[in-house]
Amino acid sequence: MKGNVLDMAVGIIIGAAAEPATKVCPYCFTTISVKAIRCPNCTSELK
Ligand SMILES: [Zn+2]
Repeated sequence: MKGNVLDMAVGIIIGAAAEPATKVCPYCFTTISVKAIRCPNCTSELK
């Protein structure tokens, strides 16, 4: 008897779609926290 492959696939997709913890500063392209409001590298304000 087969398991429910669809349920497994959906679980994997949801897991992969989790919010990333980092983003790239558009000014200096440094990887920083998504919660940062100001880039720690170039001090640009992020919106
Ligand atoms: Zn920056």
